[in-house]
Amino acid sequence: MEAKVIALANQKGGVTKTTSTVNLGVGLARAGKRVLLVDADPQGSLGVSLGLAPDELEVSLATVMAEVIEDKALSLETGIIHHKEGVDLLPANIELSGLEVSLFNVMSREYVLRNCIEPLRGRYDYILIDCMPSLAIMTVNALVAADSVVIPSQPSFLSAKGLDLLLKNVARVKRSINPSLEIDGVLLTMVDSRTNNDREIANELRLGLEQRLRVFDTVIPRSIRAVEAAHSGESIFAYEENGKVAQAYAALTKEVLELEGREKAKPRPEWAR
Ligand code: ADP
Ligand code: MG
Repeated sequence: MEAKVIALANQKGGVTKTTSTVNLGVGLARAGKRVLLVDADPQGSLGVSLGLAPDELEVSLATVMAEVIEDKALSLETGIIHHKEGVDLLPANIELSGLEVSLFNVMSREYVLRNCIEPLRGRYDYILIDCMPSLAIMTVNALVAADSVVIPSQPSFLSAKGLDLLLKNVARVKRSINPSLEIDGVLLTMVDSRTNNDREIANELRLGLEQRLRVFDTVIPRSIRAVEAAHSGESIFAYEENGKVAQAYAALTKEVLELEGREKAKPRPEWAR
């Protein structure tokens, strides 16, 4: 079995792309899956959230992409770190931002990340890509490399305009380069269940979106614990296994696992027409 590649994307920052990549990834690893997390954001937060200091790494995603651009044969292990929580990690740092600029002069510049990831598919069950907060070339690379997209968002951030723009970009990549690209769903995060406002927005969004897109049943609650876990360089499972955030990510993991096999023979979704 080849890995399923999932891009966690949203051009807005602060919507828990990184936090959800870490915790869904560790959730999948705890379910016995072989998982690789790829940081496609030069800020390097994915590595930081798992206790690394990405700026001190000599080899990172930028190194691997540069070698692929130059057609160098590289070992499949290049840049990959085995993390004690059971996931592998291909971290990024600020060098990715220079690499992104240099992509403009590269032939087939949309395919570089895909070419890095393809040879790794046989080694993993899931490869999660943590996207940067933009729709620029690095994110296009992630959408070209991916089988599906998960869109994390706070309910109040999910403006119709922002979502339409993201869907338009996903549809464009699907039409022109990656016809099998799917959207797994919208993940509502940082939901404050104590305030009616958040709950109402979440319910309204669900009703409004479900015609077009799957919205995961699981909602990730707002909690300082999620922030503390990232600061301590641990997943929420290591930090507070029995807390409500860990429970929510465990439920999300189950939903993602259940998507398998359900994708066949589906009518073309409206966003892709
Ligand atoms: P993105 O990658 O989309 O920019 P992050 O994952 O970095 O978003 O999350 C943005 C901020 O929100 C971080 O400070 C993170 O620790 C915090 N955060 C993540 N999940 C939660 C949550 N469930 N409740 C409260 N804060 C959260
Ligand atoms: Mg991030």
